Amino acid sequence: MAETIFSKIIRREIPADIVYEDESVLAFRDIAPRAPVHILVIPKAEIATTNDVSPEHETLVGHLVHVASLIAAREGIAEEGYRLVFNCNANGGQAVNHLHLHLLGGRKMSWPPG
Ligand code: AMP
Repeated sequence: MAETIFSKIIRREIPADIVYEDESVLAFRDIAPRAPVHILVIPKAEIATTNDVSPEHETLVGHLVHVASLIAAREGIAEEGYRLVFNCNANGGQAVNHLHLHLLGGRKMSWPPG
């Protein structure tokens, strides 16, 4: 896949407000937050979209969700609730083609989404 700005964040070539890192995952605050808490949890592996998730990625994608829940607890929003979102391609509103899980919280989310 073509490299994105998120690869540069992983390599520390551009700055980001990083809140979590381990060997397979990085999480940082969204530069244009849509909620009081808006954090992106990304795999360090270059996976473009959810369409590109294969069986070998199942543990990694589960880890993204687990890390998001840990961060939600740290941010103090676990009990009141939050939203986790993967956008995919044009109709899903995906702008950066590096898989990322949005953690959104700190306010009431509307449903259904627009
Ligand atoms: P999506 O529309 O699902 O592809 O989401 C991409 C997200 O990346 C958007 O919410 C952007 O605000 C966010 N974003 C883009 N560039 C950066 C950056 N340099 N640092 C942090 N977040 C970014």
